[in-house]
Amino acid sequence: MFFEYSDNREKIPDIVSHTKLPDFWNGKRYYSLDAYLKHTYGEKMYKLSLNGGMTCPNRDGTLGKRGCIFCSAGGSGDFAAPASLSISDQIETAKRNISSKVSCNKYIAYFQAFTNTYAPVSYLRKIFMEAITNPDIAILSIATRPDCLDSDVISLLSELNEIKPVWIELGLQTIHPKTSNFIRSGFSLSDFESSVFALHNSGIKVIAHVILGLPNETPDMMLDSVSYLGKLSIFGIKLQLLHILKGTDLCTYYEKHPFPVFTLTEYCDIIAACLELLPPQMVIHRITGDGPKNLLVAPLWSGNKKQVLNQIQKNLKEKNTWQGRLFNN
Ligand code: SF4
Repeated sequence: MFFEYSDNREKIPDIVSHTKLPDFWNGKRYYSLDAYLKHTYGEKMYKLSLNGGMTCPNRDGTLGKRGCIFCSAGGSGDFAAPASLSISDQIETAKRNISSKVSCNKYIAYFQAFTNTYAPVSYLRKIFMEAITNPDIAILSIATRPDCLDSDVISLLSELNEIKPVWIELGLQTIHPKTSNFIRSGFSLSDFESSVFALHNSGIKVIAHVILGLPNETPDMMLDSVSYLGKLSIFGIKLQLLHILKGTDLCTYYEKHPFPVFTLTEYCDIIAACLELLPPQMVIHRITGDGPKNLLVAPLWSGNKKQVLNQIQKNLKEKNTWQGRLFNN
């Protein structure tokens, strides 16, 4: 099945080659989120990390108490504002926090911390409406788990999607059950697939996360996960370098059983191989990682994000390759 979105992504040429990379890729060899936003909305936007004050079934004892092995105390929402503030106040605080570094008129409200559909629908409606009706917010992006999207929640998301675009971020991380058990994700690939199809049927864009560098995964296994997502026709992907952060169970495991982590060169090579397998119209929402520097244990080179991004682009040029080069639906 190839899902068609009703925005202007059909402008993307069918054939993308090194002699004709789309202008709106802005000189990059992949379709970045930045390029998508400028191409689709005509302007740059920044994400405001928000905290809806929810927990996660993988932490509150419903499925488990320790969470995913890599999950930090902030539930992967380490940059979000405190949940004690109202959503409107969080939006204003987050805007103030980035105002000295960036300038833009529209923002993406990003519910990032923990599982952001793990609450009664009436509560979800209240907080999401507060965000989506804010005049400065152009897009609502919600990070959640595939097993926390029942039909009532999807129907709410569909309603919100009529007001402004709603994106759902799902942390798949890997398609391999053995790794999935190791990281304690607590859901199956078929849970993920069912959610993607239900969201697609409601016209909601899906962004999937994959972690590159999980223990005991070979590069081929990582490429299997990426290739699977390429064929699922989702809107976007986050390619996330495995970060080992202080205070996580993964860090304890790493100290007891040190496992190899990517070097920068190896990471650039795996990213190039991933991009080649993805369709050219899939938006690359992340290509490295954003872990808090003060908690980063390994790989330390990933702390210099600008250098990593430059090196990725340089490597793609040297290899004369680009997103979609080997994509075969
Ligand atoms: S699903 Fe997300 S919030 Fe829940 S334990 Fe895993 S990483 Fe943490």
